[in-house]
Amino acid sequence: MATTRIGLGFDSHRFVKGRPLVLGGVKIPFEFGLDGHSDADALVHAIIDALLGATGRGNIGERFPDTDPAYAGADSCALLGEVWRELTADGWQVVNLDCVVIAESPRLGPHLAAMRGRLAELLGVTPAEVSVKPKTAEGLGPIGPSRPDRWPDTRERESGLAAMAVVLMNKGA
Ligand code: MG
Repeated sequence: MATTRIGLGFDSHRFVKGRPLVLGGVKIPFEFGLDGHSDADALVHAIIDALLGATGRGNIGERFPDTDPAYAGADSCALLGEVWRELTADGWQVVNLDCVVIAESPRLGPHLAAMRGRLAELLGVTPAEVSVKPKTAEGLGPIGPSRPDRWPDTRERESGLAAMAVVLMNKGA
């Protein structure tokens, strides 16, 4: 019997100097990276949580604890691959993935195709089944104040970005 499940994921990380910005498995040129135990790829973390949520497998914090030295500096795409292989072995397939990245800066438009391609490759689908939509927060809340021209005092301490992902999964179709 075919089973269809939906999963939702969310993640956010702070901007920090001295680290590369990696989003959706793609390195994006920017003066800040994201702070975190792993490579802090908030989009991939949201996707992992969506996959785990859809299939009743808990959450990323249980699976890859940020207190575990094994995941220090980890490539989040490798963690996503690990989860995807487990799901595939259990008969699950991704139907489609839809994501939102909320960031005042940098501009993500030029990098969307690369992110969709990388994520599709990792999830065994085509880029047509993967959507990544960039949004700003219109300067609202801790996600918003990341533009030094408008909020010069808050950039490093209080700004970052967030990502949301929703995934549809099929099993036994
Ligand atoms: Mg995270």
